[in-house]
Amino acid sequence: MQTIRGFRDILPENIALWQKVEKEATRLFDAFGFKEIRIPVLEKTQLFSRSIGEATDIVEKEMYTFADRKGDKLTLRPEATASIVRSYIQHKMYATDPIRKFFMMGPMFRRERPQKGRYRQFYQIDAEVFGVESAYIDSQLIFILTELFKRLGLTGLSAHVNSLGCPDCRPSFQRALLDFIASKKDRLCDNCLRRIDKNPLRILDCKVTSCKDVLQDAPATLDHLCNHCEDHFATVKTTLETQGVDFIVDKSLVRGLDYYTRTAWEIQTTTLGAQSAVAGGGRYDGLVKELGGPQTPGIGFAIGFDRLVEVMEQLDKAPQATALDLFLICLGDMATEKGYHWSCALNQNGIRTEMDFRGKSMKALMKRANKLNAHYVLIAGEDELIQNAIILRDMNTKEQVSLPVETLVPELIKIFKK
Ligand code: ATP
Ligand code: MG
Repeated sequence: MQTIRGFRDILPENIALWQKVEKEATRLFDAFGFKEIRIPVLEKTQLFSRSIGEATDIVEKEMYTFADRKGDKLTLRPEATASIVRSYIQHKMYATDPIRKFFMMGPMFRRERPQKGRYRQFYQIDAEVFGVESAYIDSQLIFILTELFKRLGLTGLSAHVNSLGCPDCRPSFQRALLDFIASKKDRLCDNCLRRIDKNPLRILDCKVTSCKDVLQDAPATLDHLCNHCEDHFATVKTTLETQGVDFIVDKSLVRGLDYYTRTAWEIQTTTLGAQSAVAGGGRYDGLVKELGGPQTPGIGFAIGFDRLVEVMEQLDKAPQATALDLFLICLGDMATEKGYHWSCALNQNGIRTEMDFRGKSMKALMKRANKLNAHYVLIAGEDELIQNAIILRDMNTKEQVSLPVETLVPELIKIFKK
């Protein structure tokens, strides 16, 4: 049996970086007042089609959708924002606190063509803020991302920032875009042509090279902002600048989801080739209302966890594997029984201790201690028990001490807790 295409195992030998990121992200979110939320992997299809948008790549071709036994249409979540908004509304979280900040980490599912940095089950680290319209929060979210990446030792990243405007500036932009597209119709792909009526903004997100070329000169939302959006974006930029966050204003950045308004951004890396986006985010001031809640501003980002780990692997940021503190070599039945109790007591005290219960020889067990990179070995055979002198050997210095059975565990705890 093999995993299905685009799905993969993350093996224990590769887990250190994932755990390092999880730890660092959790610490950072905690410092900024974000609380963890856990949401289901499966939701009603409608949640995603309504929020992400019917005419987006995700909804049109990437979702894992199926009917359950009763015929209800369900979808494996392709992203987290929609579910978190659903949860926010379902539990009336707006009623208990006007500002809520969440984070979550977990798998997402999109049926894309698998390649390096692109999987069908992939992982995201996601953050969302509800109830704050101020541009300071836009800056702060971008700041959190750059701070996290800095703590993880990443280099070669750049923040691309744009403003997509709001419903007030959309009509003027939409007119300009439709005029432009009308003049280039013969050079656009079928998918783009189909979207002219359905969702013209999505044309700007087309990945076909010839379309990309044509659309280079397309009108940009940034040139059609209303005064409010203009001010908002100006504050985002100055606060990023004063905080020393490097960014590039990128007029062509539109993101692949319909719900974004105003600030949108992506963190890109130079080290991953075509899959260059390691994180993306944006404001979605209309989404809570759209999904049935009260008018509430919202904003968030998602980090591509798999890609982040790949960048870190390239930069060789893997932490050292943790070595074993102590390996117990117990020879014979009596020593094995005693050793079993010693090892449990040491484990209870947080000392990394292992024992091999297969009844192997001294030579084989020494070999295993070396393989496990044990700092110390404890040697207890029949002779050592009779003489009440259990041997503790430092595998690096080869120094040995003898310890009596009665006080063995407390003595070892003392040694390892030093
Ligand atoms: P891309 O343009 O690379 O397809 P996206 O715009 O579809 O990315 P988002 O929906 O914004 O991605 O998701 C946020 C992040 O999740 C991306 O920046 C990326 O790092 C990661 N991501 C998205 N799709 C995948 C995938 N199929 N496999 C691995 N990571 C992914
Ligand atoms: Mg995509």
